[in-house]
Parts: sequence; structure tokens; C-alpha cells
Amino acid sequence: MTQTKNEHREKMVRYLEKIRYIKSDPVKNAFLNVDRSKFVPNHSKEDAYRDTPLQIGFGQTISAPSMIALMLEVSQLRYGLKTLEIGAGSGYNAALLAQICGEENVVTIERVPEVYNFCIENLKNAGYNIKVILGDGTKGHEEDAPYDRIISTAAAPHVPQSWKDQLKEGGLIIAPVGKKRYYQELLVSKKMPDGTFSTSFYGGCVFVPLVGEEGWKE
Ligand code: SAH
Repeated sequence: MTQTKNEHREKMVRYLEKIRYIKSDPVKNAFLNVDRSKFVPNHSKEDAYRDTPLQIGFGQTISAPSMIALMLEVSQLRYGLKTLEIGAGSGYNAALLAQICGEENVVTIERVPEVYNFCIENLKNAGYNIKVILGDGTKGHEEDAPYDRIISTAAAPHVPQSWKDQLKEGGLIIAPVGKKRYYQELLVSKKMPDGTFSTSFYGGCVFVPLVGEEGWKE
């Protein structure tokens, strides 16, 4: 008998728990609630629940579920946290963020117009009402600042100053930082009461480049 979409999702979540990438109930419930197949192109629907990155077109990718789980766990999310995502891509991670923080508290930015349209369409089809901005996320998004969390799903050469400025005291920046292509470290930086940052690294990762004024040149 073929498995239903829900069974595929439950199986993926069991696997991510077993390998200790999913550790908390909020992250587990988010993965159980968001249908990843609604965020991948038609030709990849069958691969939606494999633990692998997938092409979404225009040279961009949706990260592997294990990488997304790791990022969500280190982000220490909870309902009510104002969260800015840089690199909306397919909208899948924004939907997971909305599931945990509340959709009214999530803003996501995408710089490629075609990807932005793909994201809007996916979020609509999946039933989410999340603010999606078309623009250069290396400058953050002043209008909704300050944020409790700024999460970049594109690889930065360094943490842009605007993200530091738009973060609340006690807030976290989560971003892959390192080389333009193929190797970065996952950084988590906390804003201290005196305005300085306390930074930890959570291992190697591979993300597409953050392209923009305070990021990489195209
Ligand atoms: N979070 C996405 C994965 C995104 S891949 C998901 O769940 O599917 C990274 C995305 O960052 C790409 O779509 C890329 O176009 C976008 N990006 C790169 N530089 C950017 C910038 N300066 N501002 C906003 N988006 C950017």
C-alpha cells in the first residue's frame, strides 16, 4: 500500500528525532504540520520527504530537512518571537517559523523576483498569511524592526551591521557564515545588554550565497 503524505511526514520526523536533529516539541510539531511537498517544484514532489536539499529553480535550493531542523533548534524559538528570515526561497522555512512563532510575527525577504513569486504562491496554497518582502535582506527590514530573531538561510561573508542594529537586546542572529561557495559555519550570535555580541558556532554547513550590498557580489 502506498503511504499517505502524512505518513511520509511522520516517518521523516521519526528519522530526524532518531539522529537528534529534532530535539524539542515545537520543532517536531512544526515539521508534522507543514507539508513540504507544497513547497517544492512539481518534478520534485516525490522527493519532498527525503532528507536532501532540493532545487527550486534560478540556482536556488531548499535546504535538507536535517539542516533546517538544526537551525530551528539553535534558534530557540517560541510563540510570540518577532522573527525576520533572510532568503525566503520556497517559503517552507517561513511556514515552519510561522507554525512556532505565529504567522503574524514572521517576516521573510527574498531578492530574486521569480523566487519571491514562487514563495508567495506556495504559502498561499499551503494556507499561510506571512509577510514576504521582495528586496535585499543584507539590509534587514527596518519597517518591522526590532526583531527577537534574525535567521539567514543564505551564506553571508560576515554578519551585516543592519542585522545587529535591528536586533533586540537578548535577541539572536542565526546565519551560515564563511566562504561564498560550499563551506560555512553555522553562527549563533546573541546581543548582550551592552550592545556587544556573544557568538557560538554549530558546525559546518553549505548554503547558497547571500547576495547584496552587505553580502557577496553576484
Ligand atoms: N529558506 C528557504 C531556502 C532559501 S535558499 C526555504 O525554506 O526554501 C536561499 C535564498 O536566499 C535563495 O532563494 C536566494 O535567492 C535568497 N537570497 C540570497 N541573497 C539574498 C538577499 N540579499 N536578500 C534576500 N534573499 C536572498
